[in-house]
Amino acid sequence: MKEVVVIGAGLTGLTAAWNLRKQGKDLLLLEQSGRIGGVINSVRENGFLYEEGPNSGVVGNVEVVRLFNDLAADCELELANHHVKRRFVLKNGRWQPLPGGLKAAVTTPLFTWKDKFRILLEPFRPAGKNPHETLAGLVRRRMGNSFLNYAVDPFIIGVYAGDPNRLVPKYALPKLYNLEQQYGSFIGGTVKKQFQSKTEEEKQVNRSVFSVKGGLSGLTRALEKRIGKERIQCNCRQIAVQKIATGYAVTWINEAGLSETVEARNVISTVGAHQLGSLLPFLGKPQLDKITSLHYTRVLEVVLGFKEWKGFPLNGFGGLIPFVEKRDLLGVLFMSSLFSDRAPEGGALFSVFMGGVRRQDIFEMTDRQATEVLEREFPQLMQLDHFRPDLFKIIRHYHAIPQYEADSGERFEAIRQVEEEFPGLILGGNLRDGIGMADRIQQGKLLSEAIL
Ligand SMILES: Cc1cc2nc3c(=O)[nH]c(=O)nc-3n(C[C@H](O)[C@H](O)[C@H](O)COP(=O)(O)OP(=O)(O)OC[C@H]3O[C@@H](n4cnc5c(N)ncnc54)[C@H](O)[C@@H]3O)c2cc1C
Repeated sequence: MKEVVVIGAGLTGLTAAWNLRKQGKDLLLLEQSGRIGGVINSVRENGFLYEEGPNSGVVGNVEVVRLFNDLAADCELELANHHVKRRFVLKNGRWQPLPGGLKAAVTTPLFTWKDKFRILLEPFRPAGKNPHETLAGLVRRRMGNSFLNYAVDPFIIGVYAGDPNRLVPKYALPKLYNLEQQYGSFIGGTVKKQFQSKTEEEKQVNRSVFSVKGGLSGLTRALEKRIGKERIQCNCRQIAVQKIATGYAVTWINEAGLSETVEARNVISTVGAHQLGSLLPFLGKPQLDKITSLHYTRVLEVVLGFKEWKGFPLNGFGGLIPFVEKRDLLGVLFMSSLFSDRAPEGGALFSVFMGGVRRQDIFEMTDRQATEVLEREFPQLMQLDHFRPDLFKIIRHYHAIPQYEADSGERFEAIRQVEEEFPGLILGGNLRDGIGMADRIQQGKLLSEAIL
């Protein structure tokens, strides 16, 4: 009998397990694949250090600060260098820096003059009343179409690979939604929040962009070490949970092909919504359907490494491409300009994103077709004479990013009902509480508190 079985050894499961271990809980962490980390996987090859999943996180809440403070002896936080502040957005085929201050906001060609004036009146517009209003509707109403197309749309592409016409801010961007609901305005709310008193830890929540020296896998390895490898089992196939009188029985087929069972008072799931049907066969279909219907977009991530770089000057975070520009790439991250040790001296490393909610046709392309798209688009966008990368990897993410759309309220309610009906069963993971790494770290803490 274990106190807790955690299922899924991605960042959420690892953080939850580590928080439970800190409180001395007896637990087992089960993972279906052959390694821990989930979508996080850092790889060294041919002089480059690249990420196969997320490339960087944001210090967006105190749990991220605490995590890195606690793990300092085993993993070294690396904050992105000053280039991170320069972000490019494509307009009419040219990269334009996203304005960082008032002067730049007035002179930028990204927004129309009408919308630049319109923004001055943003604090005086009434708050919306429809909790299911889409992000596109909210931004158009408060800031105008050019802000939607050339600021918010690229931001949403960068975070969700999503569509502002489908994402609902109440669920997808709750901080933004609450600015309008609580303070009546984005600008007014942001200013007022800056004057609120903060603890020392809260002051460190400065939205810096982070990675880890040696790549993000350093973080998941450090968590694995702190949890204890003996408490983690990989290669567990066909995991299924059953309700029993004393709690739950968790059964799986181990690496040797043998069936194993462990009983637990509590089970925390951190797997994707699409995995829950087979994991929790005792859940009723109507309840389950409201959770598993969560839409995950597919994303194609292409890693490009050049030992010698002679193209566009890489003094920035990267470039995002608004949907209205009608290009075949979503964006390009300049990884070697942000973090150390990513490419040989004088070289460059990029993560290029393709596909997403509005370009599933790109995801369906063969590798050859996707390569042809890159051969055409990348040199043009990055001012290269020819396309001869020294590192070229195509990574397909079939369930990349969950889209928090209008059905999210029903999903959250179904999760609440399941947890109420089955005490000790907790449904975590990216089906709720946000999609970024900082959200996952924060949820890991919340999941452990729910058990404690
Ligand atoms: C391509 C991509 C790019 C991203 N970029 C960023 C970024 O730049 N910044 C950022 O903050 N966030 C980014 N994210 C989001 C971030 O990576 C995730 O939110 C986070 O890493 C997810 O962690 P997780 O543990 O919730 O899920 P996962 O990493 O998916 O882990 C879930 C684990 O559960 C396991 N599992 C699944 N089913 C079962 C089962 N039935 N039994 C047992 N185990 C199972 C899986 O094998 C996996 O190991 C990105 C995500 C993707 C896919």
